[in-house]
Amino acid sequence: MTFPTTSTPLSPVFPELSDSWQTLSVEVSLEKLQSDADKGLNQQQIQQRQQYFGPNELKEMSGRSLLKILWEQFTNIMLVMLMAVALISAVLDLRKGEFPKDAVAIFAIVILNGLLGYFQESQAEKALAALKRLSSPNVRVIRASEIEEISATELVPGDIMLLEAGVSIAADGRLIESQNLQIRESALTGEAETVNKQANIILGEGVPLGDRINLVFQGTEVVQGRGKVLVTRTGMDTEIGHIATLIQGVEAEDTPLQRRMSQLGNVLVSSSLVLVVLVVFVGVLRSGWQNFEELLEVSLSMAVAVVPEGLPAVVTVTLAIGTQRMVRRHALIRKLPAVETLGSVTTICSDKTGTLTQNKMVVQKIHTGTDTYEVTGEGYAPQGDFIVQDSDEYEINTELEQLLRACVLCNDALLHKKGKNWEILGDPTEGALLTLAGKGGFYREDLWLEMPRIAEIPFSSERKRMSVVVQTFQEKGGNSYVMYSKGSPEIILERCTKVYRNNQAVSLNGEQRKQILAQNDQWAAQGLRVLGLGIKPLEEIPEDNDSEKAENELIWLGLVAMIDAPRKEVKQAVLNCRQAGIRPVMITGDHPLTAQAIATELGISQPHDSIVTGQELQAMNTLELRKIVSDVSVYARVAPEHKLQIVQALQHQGEFVAMTGDGVNDAPALKQADIGIAMGITGTDVSKEASDAILLDDNFATIVAATEEGRVVYDNIRRFIKYILGSNIGEVLVIAAAPLIGLGGVPLSPLQILWMNLVTDGLPALALAMEPAEPNVMQRPPYSPRESIFSRGLGLYMVRIGVIFAILTIILMVWAYDHAHQSGDPNRWKTMVFTTLCLAQMGHGLAVRSDSQLTINLNPFSNPYILGAVTLTTSLQILLIYVPPLQQFFGTHVLSFSELLICFGFSALMFVWIELEKLVSRWFLSKKSKSKSNFNRI
Ligand code: ATP
Repeated sequence: MTFPTTSTPLSPVFPELSDSWQTLSVEVSLEKLQSDADKGLNQQQIQQRQQYFGPNELKEMSGRSLLKILWEQFTNIMLVMLMAVALISAVLDLRKGEFPKDAVAIFAIVILNGLLGYFQESQAEKALAALKRLSSPNVRVIRASEIEEISATELVPGDIMLLEAGVSIAADGRLIESQNLQIRESALTGEAETVNKQANIILGEGVPLGDRINLVFQGTEVVQGRGKVLVTRTGMDTEIGHIATLIQGVEAEDTPLQRRMSQLGNVLVSSSLVLVVLVVFVGVLRSGWQNFEELLEVSLSMAVAVVPEGLPAVVTVTLAIGTQRMVRRHALIRKLPAVETLGSVTTICSDKTGTLTQNKMVVQKIHTGTDTYEVTGEGYAPQGDFIVQDSDEYEINTELEQLLRACVLCNDALLHKKGKNWEILGDPTEGALLTLAGKGGFYREDLWLEMPRIAEIPFSSERKRMSVVVQTFQEKGGNSYVMYSKGSPEIILERCTKVYRNNQAVSLNGEQRKQILAQNDQWAAQGLRVLGLGIKPLEEIPEDNDSEKAENELIWLGLVAMIDAPRKEVKQAVLNCRQAGIRPVMITGDHPLTAQAIATELGISQPHDSIVTGQELQAMNTLELRKIVSDVSVYARVAPEHKLQIVQALQHQGEFVAMTGDGVNDAPALKQADIGIAMGITGTDVSKEASDAILLDDNFATIVAATEEGRVVYDNIRRFIKYILGSNIGEVLVIAAAPLIGLGGVPLSPLQILWMNLVTDGLPALALAMEPAEPNVMQRPPYSPRESIFSRGLGLYMVRIGVIFAILTIILMVWAYDHAHQSGDPNRWKTMVFTTLCLAQMGHGLAVRSDSQLTINLNPFSNPYILGAVTLTTSLQILLIYVPPLQQFFGTHVLSFSELLICFGFSALMFVWIELEKLVSRWFLSKKSKSKSNFNRI
């Protein structure tokens, strides 16, 4: 491989890169990249290499090109129809010897609309790319002898990268160490089977990619185990970079609503074509061919009127605003449909640790083979005492010492002091154990040197335990090994045959087992998270394939109980959920009693509600599970695969399920859920990839907030659909009525209709998309995501308002026709009809803000955009009537002041009508609820 040339002269010697890293030993690879397996690169090396190699990023090869986005704008069926209308209208004008003004204007608007759509979509693509960067993974590395977490983009060749289950690998590399490392490489090789990777192997030159088991590749996923990797290639130099496909990222899918909207577009276009044919056909039948051109003009206007040209843009903008509002509330949307469908969630299945609780653990109690202790101190600071229960004694005896050693050695977290504060890197449960050991004077820095780790069986939610093998250097010079295990107390205890007491291992009898389990239950019932620890001396390191067996015949060391307090805001969020008709469900790997205590405290369940455990789930068949799933709110000691079964059963019962997850094995459940939600802080890359949304703060309350935003988005979409389509129906009826009641000519030209649909309807519709939440938005049950957009009276509303719109305008039209003919400028009636239609929509826009509240009772400044849009559009309409070049262009005529006032007056009637409708429906509702309460009393 050759180095890229750079204009900056580079003094340092740069590492020698190879093309066949699989053929090199670990030592040679480290030498070539001038790195150190324990210390990593130093600051200077990192800076130089970052300058030299650039950021570790894949250039996007997929995604739509800008040209394609532009082309798609003009293949939109509605725009195609408009272009056809423009062509016909041009032919008609040219035949009359007139300049084809309407056609030019329609083309201009089609181009403008296309460009606007293009601009919006390319902005949306950019926004999605930004979101992708926000969710780009972090990597654990060793740099300058410290373990730290950096953004994947900062990696350089020579970095030492640490891998664990759930990580999506961020660069290509040579393995330095591997423990039971299983990697899924399907993104690269297409093979679904996981590959067992091994560091201590040297391979030949021609070994195919899928068999290079001493290397790891960017874009693949760690399914199990742990590894230490020397980064060999970054960015476009990686294998995946060579193939130049982007495998991760935010997907830009159409939402169900957008799909329904384009279907609606098709229906409207075809129905307008039918209208055109019908009007021409009936007209020719009635009065022969001499009026053909006029009939054609009427039908062209109707065709333009029926299509809501501004609607697609407003829908896109509303969804974009929705994602932004959600990010502000810490929910990152990865797939656009989630914005719209979040509001329909009926059940939220949530993890406990970290989502409902703070995940800031502090050990409070310990139970060893001989004593029970209370532990004092706060936070992660390793300062506090061990007080023997029921006495003021303070001592660290050998039992406690052994237990504290186990806490440090069987642990992957790091505890360090940053400024004045103590912080942990890694799992908070493990962090709490390091703090605990620190209080007794045991630190990782010393113990790990004394007893280095030789092997390990990592933690997984299925196994609910982890074990490590460490080497002890005996005084006589010989080596021996010790295994430490920790995990869920029942599981560790089950594997113990002895207990550590008075400095020796004595056999564990049934009575003692019962007593330990009783202690575990007592603490769990107080909401504490309890772990059990065990130890076992070994003659030799267990073989890889019987490591599970090695976790038997352990010596029991004791129980450690830590507090993980519920998050303060969650209790209120649970209450909000209930009021909103959403059922919160807790699914946890923790002990049933701990789960119950926390669930009861948060209001998720009642003290005597039944709890289902993973074991019970295992014994149930699908039918049995479906029966109970609607009533059970707490599942404990479950494994990730149970989550999938629970989601499926809930969905079968008609629920619309949001499910949280963080582990690599949660991915199937996240995919199956209607809304899969990954944890931003503790979540693995794999779970994030599988999700629709990410909680940036891991907080349950954020799901509820995002649900509220989802409801607001959906309400606003319905609001402006009502607004836009109601007016379209009105326009069509008015245009059709003119020739029917014998008024000569078309009241509205295609150009005027486009003006109304795009500007005077479009701007207020956009403002309606900004409408804040209605006060009762979280006090009503969720709407079905499968409901039609026209359900719950929306379709009827559109038709009703369209007809009222038409009746008011037709009355004005008849009067204006006579009035204009008497006053000598006959064409003014058309301008009056045009102005009334536009202005009536302003009143409609103000009134449609709420279904139930009178406009006068709404705070006008809660959505200042609507006031702005109404003022701006009204002013523009007046300019159109009075500024001569605009008059000419739009074919309007100057109205007298009194005529303008009459237009305003008629338009205001629309507003009055809608407000009256609200009063009447309120009256009906109150009557209904009164008669209901009378009935109850009887
Ligand atoms: P939730 O599923 O709500 O996040 P959880 O953290 O208890 O809760 P898991 O992470 O699946 O769920 O853990 C299951 C059990 O495994 C825990 O209750 C605990 O007993 C044990 N456990 C958790 N973390 C560790 C760890 N780092 N090492 C050993 N055992 C652990």
